[in-house]
Amino acid sequence: MIQQIDKETVREAVQMAYERCKNETGGKNADYIPYLANVPSNLFGIAACLPDGEVIAVGDTEYRFGIESVSKVPTAILAMNQYSGEEVLQKIGADATGLPFNSIMAILLEKDHPSTPLVNAGAIAACSMIRPAGDADAKWKAIVGFISELAGGEVEVIDELYKSETATNFNNKSIAWLLKNYGRIYDDPDLSLDIYTRQCSIGITARQLATVGATIAGGGVNPVTHRPVFKPELAPKITAMMATVGFYEHTGDWLFLTGLPAKTGVGGGILGVVPGVMGLAAFAPPLDEAGNSVKAQKALSYVAGHLNLNLFNTTRCVMRACEPAQV
Ligand code: GLN
Repeated sequence: MIQQIDKETVREAVQMAYERCKNETGGKNADYIPYLANVPSNLFGIAACLPDGEVIAVGDTEYRFGIESVSKVPTAILAMNQYSGEEVLQKIGADATGLPFNSIMAILLEKDHPSTPLVNAGAIAACSMIRPAGDADAKWKAIVGFISELAGGEVEVIDELYKSETATNFNNKSIAWLLKNYGRIYDDPDLSLDIYTRQCSIGITARQLATVGATIAGGGVNPVTHRPVFKPELAPKITAMMATVGFYEHTGDWLFLTGLPAKTGVGGGILGVVPGVMGLAAFAPPLDEAGNSVKAQKALSYVAGHLNLNLFNTTRCVMRACEPAQV
């Protein structure tokens, strides 16, 4: 039998996760992007956005951190929304690579498609697909506007982070041009890479990220603004992609332990989606060796376990007395 939880139980779980994890010292800030190395390592926040739009937030949930690879999720949805899930599947794919997020080997191994929009190669390919082709400003407006709609508030680039990434993104340059070599980039490679670098440099708060999660969990309707943001049939598709590759080479372990579809970024953020129930986010800069936040993983794992949110559990929880937003 499916269990029901109320807001108070969620509030307690988020608070307890914060208390239990706040003194965790494992991991190290990303340092291959100089800006990220200098973000204070002790920042920590957890947020849950419920179907009625209420956000339960504890810790540094108003701090704007680099969205980084979590931005791959909105752009994948936007590409599917502009084309279709099937076309994104055919042009990019939805397979886990089992390799690091920036792997060139993954491209060489799977020459027929870039694997998934949730690793660098597929994300750069997704940026190349975003319409209108060839028009960097209009493409950028489409992406940043879409992320703002998902988040229920304006987001913008952290200029210093964008400069820092642009000055050091040599590996991603190779990826963009290797994709070109295999005919798997659908606009100018340099333009597509720049859009990708910009989207990774967007600043977002844990509160906004939890709202992104709740919008996906609610089938594309933002519970804070009540606005429909994307086609409802795309919600299970993006959630499946997150479950498949959200933690790169550690994804199987994460899903086995938590049953929570989630996506990480090297800025220290993690976005979690509990379909039909809530969006979750946690943020703490120090990362493990795969580039996933150590403290944010612990925090979300605690919340998911405590509230019985495991997607694969037949007795998993749903929210009580908390109606979804009406369109
Ligand atoms: N901008 C980063 C990169 O492309 C994002 C990586 C990540 O968050 N895993 O290397």
